Amino acid sequence: LIREISIDIEMELMSVSSYGNSTQSSGRVKIEKDVGIDLTGRNVIIVEDIVDTGNTLFNLRKLLSARGASDVKICCLLDKPSRRTADIKPDYVCFEIPDEFVIGYGLDYAEKYRNLDCVGVIKSSAVMGSSSK
Ligand code: 5GP
Repeated sequence: LIREISIDIEMELMSVSSYGNSTQSSGRVKIEKDVGIDLTGRNVIIVEDIVDTGNTLFNLRKLLSARGASDVKICCLLDKPSRRTADIKPDYVCFEIPDEFVIGYGLDYAEKYRNLDCVGVIKSSAVMGSSSK
């Protein structure tokens, strides 16, 4: 993705999960790994693997705005709009997908399958703990 961006950028990695939901005005994110730069006045693009309910991004966008980012946009590989409960509409979407749990191409199920070279719907037998995929 960043090879396609022709202006100067800085890239940082964040790891977050959501505590609450978008109906909580104080929606909080649990930050497992934070960015190391001051975001004041910066234009930020959050690059996310998949947007599901949107709760995590709703809370993260609020947090980054509160830190002084002048603009926060959202880019995702996959979007499941039918699952949305938070007021989130990604600005850049590669693929819209139906309400299925998908794995591969970086996406995991219990930390497995990230290394698959395609995106697929996980079989229920794999979810149930069977060794077959
Ligand atoms: P949200 O806050 O939008 O409900 O959750 C977004 C996060 O849930 C994603 O970043 C991802 O970690 C996880 N997630 C949601 N749907 C899927 C899915 O179909 N497959 C995988 N592997 N993770 C998902």
